Amino acid sequence: MNIEALAKPSVLTQPVYEPGKPIEYVARELGLDPAGIVKLASNENPFGPSPLGLAAAQRALLDGALYPDGGCFELRQALAGLRGLEADQFVIGNGSNEIIELLGHAFVGPGDEVVMASPAFVVYKLVTLLFGGRAVEVPLRDWRHDLGAMAAAIGPRTKLVCVCTPNNPTGTANEEAELLAFVRALPPHVVCVIDEAYAEYLPQAPDIRPLIREGRPVVGLRTFSKIYGLASLRVGYGYASPELCRLLNRLRQPFNVNAIAQAAAVAAIGDEAFTRRCAAANAAGLAQLGAGFGSMGLETVPSVANFQLVRVGDGMSVFGKLQKQGMIVRPMNSYGLKEWIRVSVGSETQNRRLLESLNRAL
Ligand SMILES: *Cc1c(COP(=O)(O)O)cnc(C)c1O
Repeated sequence: MNIEALAKPSVLTQPVYEPGKPIEYVARELGLDPAGIVKLASNENPFGPSPLGLAAAQRALLDGALYPDGGCFELRQALAGLRGLEADQFVIGNGSNEIIELLGHAFVGPGDEVVMASPAFVVYKLVTLLFGGRAVEVPLRDWRHDLGAMAAAIGPRTKLVCVCTPNNPTGTANEEAELLAFVRALPPHVVCVIDEAYAEYLPQAPDIRPLIREGRPVVGLRTFSKIYGLASLRVGYGYASPELCRLLNRLRQPFNVNAIAQAAAVAAIGDEAFTRRCAAANAAGLAQLGAGFGSMGLETVPSVANFQLVRVGDGMSVFGKLQKQGMIVRPMNSYGLKEWIRVSVGSETQNRRLLESLNRAL
């Protein structure tokens, strides 16, 4: 029996997400001790989970026999307090990636268009294709989203426009004024998605809440995977008008976010000391990496996030050489940046080890 012949044709052409290599995988492949491997490939928090979040997760595990609160009541209350919005202006996802998928479910059908930057976070394109849509990719300009060109790329079939700021994989950000003007000028048939996965690393993130108050069709995406250090628990959120949140909530699974993740996220919101410490350490780490790459004469893209693009020549080959030294980074060929690698900002020790390994690799 040919099982592929039974699947919808689009399944066979759907590209597959290439994640950063897990530590255990690299250890098995190369016969290395996992304890000696450093992963700087997925922009995870080098300082682990928020300690308050971790303690809450451990407590929540005791009730693991019970279904979670599918409505995420406490988490939405905590977010309302944190963000100065109402609890019904949040939709909680199994990672903010799930919210991107819910947006596809809600708005994208065969032949519809989604406007996005290139290179930008690849999940916008994957979700677009999943629903039979067409990805309209607009090249970056000076490594940043070219909002003028993105506005010009919008047509009658455009359903979503995705803006990632700070952008993954470049670490570059757009300014608040240009973002607000961009959304205010959108035609009324387009929903704007503003992915702010790295917003907490900015001294002052653009505030898109005025757009929501004005009733614009816009949704902001945030995650607990990065500065809160909870990537493994899978929890993120969208914030928007109550109407848009209600729409997305109809489409999710009844228990899409587990109770351990919910409890950890609530506690992590209250762990301001941790996030402040992580943001400060990240700024120092960016400077440390910048100085190191500079002294090796390597070109970088100025980043305001917790990762850095660096031009190393043959990115795939350098990725392999670093991996043999127990350093996992991200090759960028799937983003069309063959000469570059992306490295997450680690702890001071991890950054130093990366720079030493890279020096050897080159
Ligand atoms: C890491 C990241 C996310 C977060 O995804 P989760 O599903 O919440 O882990 C979202 N958007 C971008 C651009 C990212 O880099």
